[in-house]
Amino acid sequence: MADTQARPKIQKSMEEWRRKLTPEQFHVMFEKGTERAFTGKLVNNHEDGIYHCGACNAPLFTSETKFESGSGWPSFYQPVSPDAVIEHEDRSYGMRRVEVTCATCGAHLGHVFPDGPRPTGERFCINSASLQFEKSSS
Ligand SMILES: [Zn+2]
Repeated sequence: MADTQARPKIQKSMEEWRRKLTPEQFHVMFEKGTERAFTGKLVNNHEDGIYHCGACNAPLFTSETKFESGSGWPSFYQPVSPDAVIEHEDRSYGMRRVEVTCATCGAHLGHVFPDGPRPTGERFCINSASLQFEKSSS
């Protein structure tokens, strides 16, 4: 697991992020909120393209690794590169989960669970509000 003390490359104040983002994006990404299941704009997106961080625009996931998990949140079996995201142990709400944040700006993305499909067996359960989708041009 990545060093939980790793510092993001982009560091803005909460006020700067609040001005840049919508209230929902700010809540999910910087107050570690979770959008309600099946309400996110990208849950049922099946177009080919790249999913970028909603805060800093770093590429995080691709459509090739997105799968239908039935959870109600966009789900991927691996990030675009191992260092695109940082995993942190999260013991809030009396559960032991692994939180996933953007390695570039530190925004909260969602959680990763060990019940995903092959080849990784991982399920990155990510809020639509934390992502920006860029359709591939080809
Ligand atoms: Zn980011």
